[in-house]
Amino acid sequence: MAKPSQNNPGIHVSAPYNPSDRMNPDAWAPLPLADYACHCGQTGTATGTTEVKALVSEYLTHQSSHEDR
Ligand SMILES: [Zn+2]
Repeated sequence: MAKPSQNNPGIHVSAPYNPSDRMNPDAWAPLPLADYACHCGQTGTATGTTEVKALVSEYLTHQSSHEDR
């Protein structure tokens, strides 16, 4: 999946998960990542569960701000 950009707006959330490691929680080391890009040029990135959740709501809030026009 291509990273979002101004020409390819959207949000991309990557939550590393390996089913074969389900019995080994220590293998879940990689943090979730997210990045977004809006058609207006605004971008954001986040690493970590809390930060990713915050980025998703930031993105949604930003998108609705465009709908008001
Ligand atoms: Zn925008």
